[in-house]
Amino acid sequence: MNAENARTITGTVFDIQRYSIHDGPGIRTIVFLKGCPLSCKWCSNPESQAYEPQVFYVKSKCIGCGLCERSCPNNEVKLTEDGLLIDWKAINASKDLSWVNVCPTGALGVKGEKMTAQEVFDIVMRDKVFYDQSGGGLTLSGGEPLVQSEFALELLKMLHDAGVNTAIETTGAVDKKVLLDVLPYTDLFLYDFKHWDNEIHKKYIGASNSHIKENLKMLAEKKANILVRVPVIPGVNDTEKFVSKVISELKEYGIDKLALLPFHQYGSGKYVSCGMTYEMQDFKPPAEDKIEELRKIISDAGFSNK
Ligand code: SF4
Repeated sequence: MNAENARTITGTVFDIQRYSIHDGPGIRTIVFLKGCPLSCKWCSNPESQAYEPQVFYVKSKCIGCGLCERSCPNNEVKLTEDGLLIDWKAINASKDLSWVNVCPTGALGVKGEKMTAQEVFDIVMRDKVFYDQSGGGLTLSGGEPLVQSEFALELLKMLHDAGVNTAIETTGAVDKKVLLDVLPYTDLFLYDFKHWDNEIHKKYIGASNSHIKENLKMLAEKKANILVRVPVIPGVNDTEKFVSKVISELKEYGIDKLALLPFHQYGSGKYVSCGMTYEMQDFKPPAEDKIEELRKIISDAGFSNK
């Protein structure tokens, strides 16, 4: 470990979840980094999209004490009979959000904190004994964790050297070099792939998929351990035809692991808390039997879902 790098390289972290049994094998610590080059309409972590720390407000926790209104430097918040009125643009443009901490109930807070690689490493290592017993470890998530490439690389290196299993949940929408840099220190790529059709991809994700496909192919050629994960969105990609297309493309790449992530509405409240617009409120989660049908097509094609 390079002690100097560990102390000086920082990342913007918006959450750390310990004891997770998702997003990789065994018991894991998930470190969520801010920033994403994509803007999926169904994103369940909207607080991950912006690169800088941002304010959130949970109205149900607000006791109307007015401390925030008296503390904000430029009238960014105003207390009304119906809770806070927030100038989201102004508040998130502020360089210093430390005054937000006056809120006594946590109704008002900040998502995103600068942490050094050493600080995050120390938190992740608290559960080393569980990783050793379960085959678990660290999962870097986001956002797109690799937009903070220097921090991600340093953390992955440190944990890999410490004998911890490492996984990255990635959109693949990053420079090829970044993926190549982290490859030697990454035991598993959880590679999200939203749609094979470029026009549909652009419509719902706001970007072309060609770069994402190229990076997936490149990682496969390098023999990376890849689990492709497809979010299943009703009316967008929940058909047998679509899943069969993904299967045939992945076979060409030599990838044999594919999992489905059914759409859900769990993240919708976060859009309100962060002053963002949510466009998927009318979409229903896919029916359980539909998902089972699609999963059977995948397993019948010889794919593993882990
Ligand atoms: S400080 Fe917190 S609890 Fe008090 S009015 Fe502001 S948001 Fe509500």
